[in-house]
Amino acid sequence: MSPADSSHQSDDFQSHPPIPCTACESAFQSNAMPSFLLLDQLTIPLVGCDTHLTQFTDICEYTTENTADLLDHQPAGDLGCPSCHLSPYDPNYPMIPVQDGAVAVLACPDHQSEIVERFHTGLNTKQQLTTSLNMS
Ligand SMILES: [Zn+2]
Ligand SMILES: [Zn+2]
Repeated sequence: MSPADSSHQSDDFQSHPPIPCTACESAFQSNAMPSFLLLDQLTIPLVGCDTHLTQFTDICEYTTENTADLLDHQPAGDLGCPSCHLSPYDPNYPMIPVQDGAVAVLACPDHQSEIVERFHTGLNTKQQLTTSLNMS
């Protein structure tokens, strides 16, 4: 038996690249309470500064015919997804770059990839709309 002394831990605090927005950065560092994005059937816990959470919400709204809402507290009832509900805060959650800031998605892997997809779809839609406006 070899003494597997794995006390060699890397500094995970610096594991993500620096975010230009200091308000986002401090939200991550301070373990801020997540906000909740309501988009169709999804309820996604997010962490970021108000500005970039709002931008994220606006872009996601391009992917729905309804409105995307942002709550600064947990909605009444449950999240709809027990896995999302149980997701602990983890600084290694994926950061989604939003303009000069970033938003962390504190959801289960399924809903993480779903909201990331919606965000990218929304970005494309927004770009197309902007382009066609400029052309006409
Ligand atoms: Zn920010
Ligand atoms: Zn989930």
